[in-house]
Amino acid sequence: MRSKVAIAIGAHPDDIEFYMSGTLLLLEKAGYETHYLNVANGNCGSAKYNEAMTRSIRNTEARAAAKILGAQFHPPLTNDLEIFYSLGLLRALAAVIREVRPGIVLTHSPQDYMEDHTNTSRLAVTAAFTRGMSNFKTLPARPAANSEVTVYHAMPHGLCDELRRRIVPGAFVNTSSAHKTKHQALAAHKSQQAWLDVSQGLNSYLLAMEDMSLAVGRMSKKFKHAEGWRRHLHLGFCGTEADPLRAALGRNYIVNKAYERNLEKGF
Ligand SMILES: [Zn+2]
Repeated sequence: MRSKVAIAIGAHPDDIEFYMSGTLLLLEKAGYETHYLNVANGNCGSAKYNEAMTRSIRNTEARAAAKILGAQFHPPLTNDLEIFYSLGLLRALAAVIREVRPGIVLTHSPQDYMEDHTNTSRLAVTAAFTRGMSNFKTLPARPAANSEVTVYHAMPHGLCDELRRRIVPGAFVNTSSAHKTKHQALAAHKSQQAWLDVSQGLNSYLLAMEDMSLAVGRMSKKFKHAEGWRRHLHLGFCGTEADPLRAALGRNYIVNKAYERNLEKGF
């Protein structure tokens, strides 16, 4: 069924694993067809290998991670630090959205520590917005299809915005049951484990994900491991009350009532 399709759109290879993959795994378990797209190819993610080699290594790692997540892999669209809110990238990303026709888009926070992430968020939002607009040309050309889509924004790195202000999730997803696989998918990005602590068999990268997952779990006051989400305004995307994550994940999804109260009175 086409409506049971979700796509995670991250900036760099490993961002989906870090911020979104627990939820993507739960959606897959709930019967969703899941898709995986990093906008950039990770070519700057090494001090050891040149750009072409790094791109190749990270492509292999990202494909392996997507396989672990059970998600369909889509090739990246550009280089690291070249994710601009540009017409070319918008046309390319909109083509993927029209091919996949997701009911759920998972992407970065609109506020985040670096602009590849925030620009990815903007591109994902507008690519979804244009899904039904036949006069907007995608590259490659794909027919417009006006189905409902709900966009969810992940928690930013460091759980705060670029001005250090704390970001509070609008909802929590209990990722405890998916945590082991999430960890495996992140660990597939072996080239990012340059800071391996041989004595412990762990590294700062995996530990950072662990810390964030536990911190969001504590914020939920209910789950051990959690991912936090903020739902994009429905206008132009879906019905007023559409919350397909809640519908798909049941007890593994709780709305943050404090956030909802603040929505009404303003932050
Ligand atoms: Zn990133």
